[in-house]
Amino acid sequence: MPDILVVGGGAAGLMAAYAAGKEGADVLLLEHNEKTGKKIYITGKGRCNLTNDCTRDEFMREVARNPRFLFSALNALSPQDMMDLMESHGLPLTVERGRRVFPASQKASDVTRTLMAMLKEVHASVRLHADVEHLLIRDGRISGVKTKDGEEISAGAVILATGGMSYPLTGSTGDGYRMAKEAGHTVTAPLPSLTALETKEDWPRQLQGLSLKNVTLSLRAGKKKLYEEQGEMLFTHFGISGPLVLEASCHLPEALEGVSLHLNLKPALTPEQLSARLQREFDAQPRRALSTVLQTLLPQRLAALFPDLAGVDGNRTCAEISRQERTLLMEKLQDLPLTISRRRPLSEAIVTRGGIPVKEVDPGTMHSRIMPGLYLCGELLDVDAHTGGYNLHIAFSTGYLAGLSAARAM
Ligand SMILES: Cc1cc2nc3c(=O)[nH]c(=O)nc-3n(C[C@H](O)[C@H](O)[C@H](O)COP(=O)(O)OP(=O)(O)OC[C@H]3O[C@@H](n4cnc5c(N)ncnc54)[C@H](O)[C@@H]3O)c2cc1C
Repeated sequence: MPDILVVGGGAAGLMAAYAAGKEGADVLLLEHNEKTGKKIYITGKGRCNLTNDCTRDEFMREVARNPRFLFSALNALSPQDMMDLMESHGLPLTVERGRRVFPASQKASDVTRTLMAMLKEVHASVRLHADVEHLLIRDGRISGVKTKDGEEISAGAVILATGGMSYPLTGSTGDGYRMAKEAGHTVTAPLPSLTALETKEDWPRQLQGLSLKNVTLSLRAGKKKLYEEQGEMLFTHFGISGPLVLEASCHLPEALEGVSLHLNLKPALTPEQLSARLQREFDAQPRRALSTVLQTLLPQRLAALFPDLAGVDGNRTCAEISRQERTLLMEKLQDLPLTISRRRPLSEAIVTRGGIPVKEVDPGTMHSRIMPGLYLCGELLDVDAHTGGYNLHIAFSTGYLAGLSAARAM
């Protein structure tokens, strides 16, 4: 009988098994896939942005939900500790724009390979094709797990690291929520986060494939500003996507009614500068069609469509555009509204928002406050962050702390 069972061989589970093994515990990791770290392989477009080379305070500012819960986990395994751990186990790293950390080899598979070697070093065992179905509870505490084929495996403690529900083909099927519920936990409804958005308006679909750099996206609920940031976005066959949109999606309230999205296509110019710029372009080419002249300000496809969005006929010449119409164009260039009809589904989201409420977990140990002997870590918890290596680091650091704490409690 192992001391500790780890359920799930993703970033959190692998790190939990390593930390527990390093503390001398006898560890068995159970993974239902044919291999561990299936999601790690697809992270960072196959390059795995495994952490972010920032301070703890900077890190917490990038966490959309429950950043303070991570205080002890980030002390147990800081981004610098994570980088040292990987490099000392033979994985050279490189730091890119935005202090995003990748393996120097640019191969996500090298991260999983390194983690597997670390498990071997501490004699932690891994069993694949092990589909855990239930937690076993005896005398009010965890006594082990039961697999789908009926096998009961006893242990002193169980670390649940089954992830969220995004990209279910990687094995993150949401089983952990059900099992945590069996142990008395509640689950905050899972929602897609870091996800693309569908729009009520049809015009973004007409621009499918067009990306815009250096635009500002803001989200508002009535007069309240929920989010505002500058960056890159993409028009798609359903609406909008790209880094700026994914990040904005983290800041949406659960219900989308009353939320409006606004694009500023020319954020570097003040309204006065933009007005002068438009006037200058119009004066320089008075006989050319408005939509042609707008190409000096916008990508061609957007320039062709834009006059319509402002309610102005793009076929008219610039000389024919009235002062009032120029004002309309100017206003729309800096405040182009979109209505979000829905988020893309959870299966397409980068992370799952929601999960086990952090108030049900001791942040200093990752031990359940509800069920003795049960530890929870990774995306299963109601903690999620922006892109930049933060989500994987949340999994690594909470997994590390869970493994360490479970072993020390033996
Ligand atoms: C396309 C994509 C790209 C991403 N890129 C990045 C990035 O570059 N940087 C970053 O920081 N984050 C990235 N993320 C997010 C990051 O991958 C996750 O937040 C992180 O992997 C979560 O780790 P986890 O161990 O908690 O869960 P998971 O990685 O989901 O691991 C859970 C494991 O548990 C197993 N499991 C589930 N149920 C059972 C069961 N009943 N029995 C046995 N095993 C079970 C699963 O098979 C899986 O292996 C990306 C996500 C996606 C989808």
